[in-house]
Amino acid sequence: MKRENTVRGSLVAAVHRREDFPNASLPIVAFVGRSNVGKSSVLNRLLGTQSARVGKTPGKTRGVYIYETNEGHHVADLPGVGFARASGVERESWGELADLLFGSGRVSLAVHLVDPRVPEAEADRHLSRYLHASGVAAIAVATKWDRLSAAEQGRARRRLEQVHGEFWPVSAKTGEGIDALRRQIRRRIQEEGV
Ligand code: GDP
Repeated sequence: MKRENTVRGSLVAAVHRREDFPNASLPIVAFVGRSNVGKSSVLNRLLGTQSARVGKTPGKTRGVYIYETNEGHHVADLPGVGFARASGVERESWGELADLLFGSGRVSLAVHLVDPRVPEAEADRHLSRYLHASGVAAIAVATKWDRLSAAEQGRARRRLEQVHGEFWPVSAKTGEGIDALRRQIRRRIQEEGV
């Protein structure tokens, strides 16, 4: 099948309940990470839209955003870990939304975004344990790679490899690593056999 270079996505649902998931039985790729890790920026790059809001306090009806892509899968954008404290207006806790998403049986792959400057934050340890327990295949992505000097990149690379094994460095600012991440997501979805 011919692939376009850019994934185009549009918001199809804000999920609060099981019934809110889109009917299409497409596999879901779930994006998770700490607040401010750069998740919206990476999603905008991957989806080729500005529909994932960057740097904004999420509104009351946040839920789990589901985007359609032209890649034959859906993308789920879970609020950043720590979002509830930041906004104070959320109806659901992160855990409730995560359980809803990962309990749906629809998630084929989780993309865990981490800050390469803080590769072992407590929230990320928690996320890794959560993803492991959910049984969903996961890949690690280091964001804002352009912010690191060459020496910092070298140090971060070694640390991230120790913590996560393989990982994908990306910059939403320069676009570095985005195509490689897109290819890896395609490959992993195929491997997961959905
Ligand atoms: P989210 O809360 O995880 O969705 O994070 P955002 O995408 O809103 O990004 C948080 C902040 O980091 C914003 O000020 C972005 O402009 C900035 N940011 C995100 N990605 C990058 C990147 O790749 N490079 C740089 N230099 N800044 C970034």
